[in-house]
Amino acid sequence: MSSLPLRLLPDNASIGPDGQLLIAGCDAVELARAFGTPLFVYDEEHLRSRCREAVAAFGKGVDYATKAFLCKEMARLAYGEGMKLDVSTGGEYAVARAAGVPANALVLHGNNKSVDELRTALHEGVSRVIVDSFDEFDRIESLVKEGLEPPKVLVRITPGIEAHTHEYVQTGQDDSKFGFGIHTGAAAEAIDRARRSHGVRFEGLHVHIGSQIFEEEFFDRAIKVVADLLDGIEAAEISVGGGLGVAYVEEEEAPTITEWAAAVHAAARAAGIDARIVAEPGRSIAAAAGVTLYTVGTIKHIPGIRTYLSVDGGMSDNPRPVLYGSGYETCLAREVEADRPTVVTVVGKHCESGDVLVRDGNVPADIRVGDILCTPVTGAYGHSMGSNYNKVPRPAVVFVKDGEARAVVRRETYDDLMRLDI
Ligand SMILES: *Cc1c(COP(=O)(O)O)cnc(C)c1O
Repeated sequence: MSSLPLRLLPDNASIGPDGQLLIAGCDAVELARAFGTPLFVYDEEHLRSRCREAVAAFGKGVDYATKAFLCKEMARLAYGEGMKLDVSTGGEYAVARAAGVPANALVLHGNNKSVDELRTALHEGVSRVIVDSFDEFDRIESLVKEGLEPPKVLVRITPGIEAHTHEYVQTGQDDSKFGFGIHTGAAAEAIDRARRSHGVRFEGLHVHIGSQIFEEEFFDRAIKVVADLLDGIEAAEISVGGGLGVAYVEEEEAPTITEWAAAVHAAARAAGIDARIVAEPGRSIAAAAGVTLYTVGTIKHIPGIRTYLSVDGGMSDNPRPVLYGSGYETCLAREVEADRPTVVTVVGKHCESGDVLVRDGNVPADIRVGDILCTPVTGAYGHSMGSNYNKVPRPAVVFVKDGEARAVVRRETYDDLMRLDI
């Protein structure tokens, strides 16, 4: 019923003289007209301020987890603000390098790194490799035998912790494809191997327990597991991964990056860890900085059942509702603070009944075809998880700052859709 909680909008969002949504001084309806819809709009200063907050909270070794949102401009922005970049595939690595980020500012992740991915990273002098399996040790060691420099590594452990989050984004439990389990003894064995091996330089441990986690207690527990496992073993660096949750809907509240870092540092002190503590925030950097603008195309009212509001994007630009049942809020770009008494199901234009963006979206009663609908907090895992399903071209991405908008990723064209066809 009530209007959108404005705290869900980017830092520099405001309400214009006619009640319209302004982001960093740019009128959202105008942006939709100028760049088309669907459109990802990022408040550039919001992104920068979260990067700066992460660097202040964790220090220089903190990484931006690029899988949350990556394009060349984003890579330059995070690196420019003093972060390193966490990449988990050769593709993310290539985008970061093409953006001008040096290899020694990249941290290579992945549970199945190929020989080629490792060779490039070692050859170019990647900052850290997060070793995930014994097969990977074998691959790195044979590359070093070929003459490449042994990389600095963190050993990724799975601490046996089930954080309260969606099953698909839990990564700390024993039954996981990631890392070396504590309870099987694999973690101790991997640490031993890393310390003895001539193919790697052991820096420390990495533990990432999942994503969209709100309770600091889980990070606390992960730190304790790390401390027990180290038990006298010298480690220069401990990475707690990413995973800090963000508020997507009215009822949610999340700790800030600063609060998260304070809790992690306190836990490390309490556990007697004196290694450098680093982290890899993704969602908490990018999610709330971005909104998506859609044009309402069809309104279908089924009396006594529901009202479907169809927009011009869908699961191809935001698969999170389909994958995880994630919730979002909505507002009208022309009147952000309007009461929202009407409940609708916001759906996309894909040929799937499951193509839902907002299950129970509150919208103003006078919503009409042609309106620009805004979904806040879509800056992470939207564009990056997007697809071309139904051959819907991927949206453009626009950064806004001080009343100026610039496209950093152009909209895909129909030609782009056929670029790979032979
Ligand atoms: C996904 C991931 C991150 C980022 O997680 P967020 O929840 O976006 O902060 C960091 N590190 C690793 C290893 C990851 O897999």
